[in-house]
Amino acid sequence: MKLVKAIVGANWGDEGKGKITDVFAAESDFVIRFQGGSNAGHTIINSYGKFALHQIPSGVFHGHITNIIGNGVALNADNLEKEVNELVERKVPRPKLYVSERTQLVMPYHILFDKYEEERLAGKSFGSTKSGIAPFYSDKYAKIGFQVSELYDESYLKEKLKTVLELKNVILEHLYHKPTLSFDEVWEQLLKWRDILEPYRTNVFSLLSNAVKEDKNILLEGQLGSLKDTDFGIYPMVTSSSTLAGFGAVGAGIPPWAIKEIVAVTKAYSSAVGAGEFVSEIFGETGDELRRRGGDGGEYGATTGRPRRMGWFDCVATRYGCIAQGATNVAITCLDVLSYLDEIPVCVAYELDGKESRDFPVTCELGKAKPVLQKLKGWGTDIRGIKSYEDLPANARAYVEFIEEQIGYRIGIVSNGPGRDDIIYRR
Ligand code: GDP
Repeated sequence: MKLVKAIVGANWGDEGKGKITDVFAAESDFVIRFQGGSNAGHTIINSYGKFALHQIPSGVFHGHITNIIGNGVALNADNLEKEVNELVERKVPRPKLYVSERTQLVMPYHILFDKYEEERLAGKSFGSTKSGIAPFYSDKYAKIGFQVSELYDESYLKEKLKTVLELKNVILEHLYHKPTLSFDEVWEQLLKWRDILEPYRTNVFSLLSNAVKEDKNILLEGQLGSLKDTDFGIYPMVTSSSTLAGFGAVGAGIPPWAIKEIVAVTKAYSSAVGAGEFVSEIFGETGDELRRRGGDGGEYGATTGRPRRMGWFDCVATRYGCIAQGATNVAITCLDVLSYLDEIPVCVAYELDGKESRDFPVTCELGKAKPVLQKLKGWGTDIRGIKSYEDLPANARAYVEFIEEQIGYRIGIVSNGPGRDDIIYRR
């Protein structure tokens, strides 16, 4: 039987999942986004150029792949149209893309509420990207969300929109003291989305259930990472959907037993965006330099352009992140970025109330945790272009193997540059 493989983040997101997905996508028949929305981005560099994908799956660069936006995604229909148009304008062949008829829509008021709520919270805000994600998932589980399929049932849609807008306008007026929304303007928006989504909407559940039966190669593409998971992350500074491979079964609509391989992606150092506890964070010039040198052209948000917070590799958080994902393999990215350092600190434990621990605590305790750092030797030479693990400098291998031992998972893939070919598979 062929595999359903999940590529997911072991940390706070931005681990380089897009690049790893792009590498694996070539051998897939289906690439599926199963959670999250257009609030984060994957950066992919290939022969067409450099792309920041927000909600369309990373398989869109391969003509043979069916790309799917699963029912677990928060769909922003305008952004979907924009993203596809950008691909076409940049000479990528129009991708084979489907949206589940059960996927729900990010509504105009979700984006407004996200913005207004952050304003209301002022200094205590979540650092939201203001894409409407938290209000979207709140409504989905409060059963007042809109599924794509509902766009095509006019009388049902009209009634439902009237009822929901009544509620939303009370909040707009009395909590946020902002202008209310008229039925007509939201209705126009929904009609526009109905046309945009017409070529994409399909019965993904049945499509995928056949694909599993027919032994197709299926790739699940995660957004963000374990530490942003609603349940297991640094709640409440998390995202509002599950970022775990296990949720892939629900968010795509495939049997849980079919997910056979889970590649947890981690980066050779840490970065995080938004507010929240970040134990191994580094500040000042040391952090600024790592940010400048990080990723491909600096560690700045792929969607928001915000500078990312930087930290040393955190073995405690990553071990926990790999366990939460149920990793069967680990990919470490951006090893090349660390080549400039003589010594590389790594966080091997947390000090909590005077005691050292390797267990990742709940958020209330996390705030008191201090990093216990151990310094490893740098390798002092550029490692880009190296194709086999044995050819890496001894200290670079020692760094990878030290992390491997600390996290308790084998690192099977090392990425030493942003391009598709900058990848080393360990035997
Ligand atoms: P994602 O959301 O997990 O896909 O991560 P992002 O795309 O936001 O951030 C990862 C950044 O690192 C992107 O700019 C990638 O092009 C870049 N990248 C990925 N792997 C490597 C690598 O091995 N080395 C370097 N230097 N950059 C990498």
